[in-house]
Amino acid sequence: TRMSSNLVRALIMGPPGSGKGTVSERIVNTFSVTHLSSGDVLRSQIKEGTEVGLKAKEIVEKGELVPDEIMIELILNKMKELGEGSWLLDGFPRTVVQAEKLSEIQELDIVINLDVPFETIIDRISGGPLLYSSPEIADQDPHCTYSCFHRDRKKRWIHPGSGKTYNLDFSPPKVPGKDDETGEDLVQRDDDKPETVRQRLTQYESLTKPLIEFYEEKGLLKSFSGTETNVIWPKVKDYLSENFFKK
Ligand code: ATP
Repeated sequence: TRMSSNLVRALIMGPPGSGKGTVSERIVNTFSVTHLSSGDVLRSQIKEGTEVGLKAKEIVEKGELVPDEIMIELILNKMKELGEGSWLLDGFPRTVVQAEKLSEIQELDIVINLDVPFETIIDRISGGPLLYSSPEIADQDPHCTYSCFHRDRKKRWIHPGSGKTYNLDFSPPKVPGKDDETGEDLVQRDDDKPETVRQRLTQYESLTKPLIEFYEEKGLLKSFSGTETNVIWPKVKDYLSENFFKK
């Protein structure tokens, strides 16, 4: 079976801010797999100003999902470049329609699901325990100060060149605001604004979460629960090396 061969076709899913990017990067650095991230593909289309990029820009900025037809065409095309080796799909499929389409052309070996609590995610991405649309609304909550709203508390930073993600709490850059490897500036993602994070979570709940059941029924789902990526990662690593990347 596939189990003992070294060819692995994997998918990773989880709510926005669940550590998908970090875990994916570690998988790619540890095992021999090619990474394909739909978010990275979209961000580069947007940056290059392609036809797809122009259509996607506003949708991504609002935290909504890009229409299935566009995503399916874009990602299935990119998948042709993946070649014969092992790979890890990240961020696609994100709806049942996308998953059905994928299943028509490609069998998967495992779906890694990162199961991270809602509160942890909100805290992680935006830096506040709660999200409010304005400081005035935040003020009405006795447990919240202005900083619940304040954007400067955002903890997630990325290096645009490599896509590497830093988090000020658990994976800070060695020099603040600079990439460890290149020393280049780190940036924050436009769609990490509190309003957008909330919208992304809502979209996840209604459109992406049903995929958990979809893959569970197919016997492919493996969930890893926790609040810290540094605790989840060793479990993912052990599981993959025991079951999929055996020598
Ligand atoms: P994170 O990077 O925090 O783990 P994320 O899942 O929110 O989480 P990306 O996967 O980078 O981030 O996606 C960013 C945005 O790109 C999404 O909010 C959505 O607008 C769009 N997007 C990415 N993949 C898809 C997809 N398969 N279908 C529709 N839209 C997508």
